[in-house]
Amino acid sequence: MAGQVQVLDQLSRPLRDLRVSVTDRCNFRCQYCMPREVFGPGFRFLPRSEVLTFEEVERVVRVLVPLGVSKVRLTGGEPLLRRDLPVLVRRLAEVPGVLDLALTTNGLLLSRMADQLADAGLRRVTVSLDSLDPAVFAEMSGVGARLEVVVAGIEAAGRAGLGPVKLNCVVRRGLNDRGLLELAAFARDGGHVLRFIEYMDVGESHGWRLDEVVPSSEVLERIGQRWELEPETPRYPGEVATRYRYRDGAGEVGVISSVSQPFCGACTRLRLSADGHLHTCLFSRGGTDLRPTLRGPAGDDQLSALVRGIWRRRSDRYSEERAGGVVAGPPKVEMSYLGG
Ligand code: SAM
Ligand code: SF4
Ligand code: SF4
Repeated sequence: MAGQVQVLDQLSRPLRDLRVSVTDRCNFRCQYCMPREVFGPGFRFLPRSEVLTFEEVERVVRVLVPLGVSKVRLTGGEPLLRRDLPVLVRRLAEVPGVLDLALTTNGLLLSRMADQLADAGLRRVTVSLDSLDPAVFAEMSGVGARLEVVVAGIEAAGRAGLGPVKLNCVVRRGLNDRGLLELAAFARDGGHVLRFIEYMDVGESHGWRLDEVVPSSEVLERIGQRWELEPETPRYPGEVATRYRYRDGAGEVGVISSVSQPFCGACTRLRLSADGHLHTCLFSRGGTDLRPTLRGPAGDDQLSALVRGIWRRRSDRYSEERAGGVVAGPPKVEMSYLGG
């Protein structure tokens, strides 16, 4: 694209993807992300004045595209709770150079919003679905959510043209790991693209334990015993999921092995929190507040220079460091704030 400036970080990684958290609020209280004990009735979420407006988000995206960003994913908290979200989707879909615009949701409100989102220009949707057992699902949601509502949302997204719908399952030993084959069968039958994600130590509030992580190798072994798998070639360097094809032609399944096989060397992601902080790693311990620049007299050139500087200084490789046992530091930012 004209005017493109490639910026590389300290480990020579380019900037390619942006995840935008549009709200820090959520209608679920997943134990691994927003446990009720921490995110209870007294929890202070961001006041509206601190949250970026749609104009501000669009401006950041417009400034980031010439620096290499071509993929944008809306997330949260629960992004469908953000009022008038389709208006933001439309604005971002119209930014030249945004080649891929996607959304990650828990799916609870998807049935009623899928058509509007598709009309506004959303291309793809990822729905988090940890279990097909209604009781396990309700427990993991932390609010007793009904599985059938989310399944209806997945179907509505498919009908709206947002498919194939991607499904994310965070696997936690002793909780939902018995239902992996059932999830795989559901995805195969429905033409969905399933990803199993290793449970990660994002943030500080979940009491993460390594023995609750089910390594991807184990997930693949179990699925491979039921349906024969063969490795897919990565579509692009740094693809986060390792993908496998079902030999019988029923699509693919992927694993995201951020704990057992970290992929920091190929990490091209920047994260924008709902209150306008840029974070260069999912395990960030602090970000850079863009609001003084966004809300002050600075022009786009200054905003661009600020972001280029942040990316150039970046040397994050938390998951690799965790694998090497070095993880001490100030508290990490919560996933619901950062957007996963
Ligand atoms: N609320 C939306 C949802 O759940 O899809 C979007 C935000 S959520 C933070 C984004 C993704 O992060 C979800 O797929 C969720 O399962 C995943 N996630 C949250 N906490 C996690 C953890 N501790 N380890 C691995 N994945 C996690
Ligand atoms: Fe909410 Fe998503 Fe976090 Fe669950 S994973 S608490 S749905 S933000
Ligand atoms: Fe990227 Fe940080 Fe995850 Fe490594 S730990 S892959 S640098 S987000």
